[in-house]
Amino acid sequence: PLVLGIETSCDETGVGIVRGHTLLADAVASSVDEHARFGGVVPEVASRAHLEAIVPTIHRALADAGVTLSDVDAIAVTAGPGLAGALLVGVAAAKGYALAAEKPIYGVNHLAAHVAVDTLEHGALPEPAIALLVSGGHSSLLLVEDLARGVTPLGSTIDDAAGEAFDKVARLLGLPFPGGPPIDRAARSGDPSAIPFPRGLSAARDLAAHRYDFSFSGLKTAVARWVEARQRAGEPVPVEDVAASFQEAVCDVLTAKAVDACRAQGVNTLVIGGGVAANSRIRSLAEERCARHGITVRVPRPKLCTDNGAMVAALGSHLVGAGVTPSRLDLPADSSMPLTTVNV
Ligand code: ATP
Ligand code: MG
Ligand code: FE
Repeated sequence: PLVLGIETSCDETGVGIVRGHTLLADAVASSVDEHARFGGVVPEVASRAHLEAIVPTIHRALADAGVTLSDVDAIAVTAGPGLAGALLVGVAAAKGYALAAEKPIYGVNHLAAHVAVDTLEHGALPEPAIALLVSGGHSSLLLVEDLARGVTPLGSTIDDAAGEAFDKVARLLGLPFPGGPPIDRAARSGDPSAIPFPRGLSAARDLAAHRYDFSFSGLKTAVARWVEARQRAGEPVPVEDVAASFQEAVCDVLTAKAVDACRAQGVNTLVIGGGVAANSRIRSLAEERCARHGITVRVPRPKLCTDNGAMVAALGSHLVGAGVTPSRLDLPADSSMPLTTVNV
């Protein structure tokens, strides 16, 4: 099926067009620069930016794909989770286009879309698979037995999300927002074993109750304490070493628990999605550890890991292919849509 996907859950206005598993267009307009000076996304600013960008971005995607709206078989849109006012812009636009062009509409889960996007890179996802979802607002391990019908959460963060930890640590190192890319860059010239930062929920006593859960807030505090101690002593902060050691702590825990989940569930496919999946170290460490256990790891190219419309179109295409009933035209946006809901 030819599916147009619309994403407006945070600060990216994304419109993607796919045919089956083939990516035809991936247009993204970001308001990230408008938020950078606040050190985080400002909801009201994001909504206004979506409203300005949504129509031109839809038409740019159609032009890039060389198709017209009447060629499209279905329109998919992120219905949640995300910022309420931001979601509403995408959902309202999707309804307008669906109504005008008489196309079925699918209101889908942003997080399931972060998993589904990999099909554009590597084809149909073998099921069952384990998904490691690591983004700005979420960090979870999921068992994916049938993506069209839902995912089974195995565990998730009990405090900060992995991306949130990158953003907070970047801030205290004086690096720009969002923090993932500059930490990734700084870490390249740092020593990952320079500072032994804590691995949250990895000690034997924590594993009993939290085998597949994550915790990054203790790590963030440990980095802050370490940096403060340096500053108090009047010594320079070795930003590259701190970045590399922090990044190693995050990637170590994420990949160790993902591999453990695959082995315990008898699953030999690991898919990683969400903005943090763009990180160069999580990609290499996952490859290395999965190879040791005969697990195939699938991570889409970095541009598809962060928010975009192609991921929404990919999930929409999967749902159409699986014969899932479309949403009603009065579908709601749900800012706190649970991980277990794939479509509304
Ligand atoms: P959610 O998907 O949970 O609703 P979101 O949509 O805001 O949150 P994403 O766009 O999926 O989040 O991911 C953004 C996050 O990814 C940010 O926290 C950012 O710092 C992080 N990120 C992006 N690139 C990298 C990278 N190379 N290394 C580490 N983190 C990264
Ligand atoms: Mg973003
Ligand atoms: Fe996201």
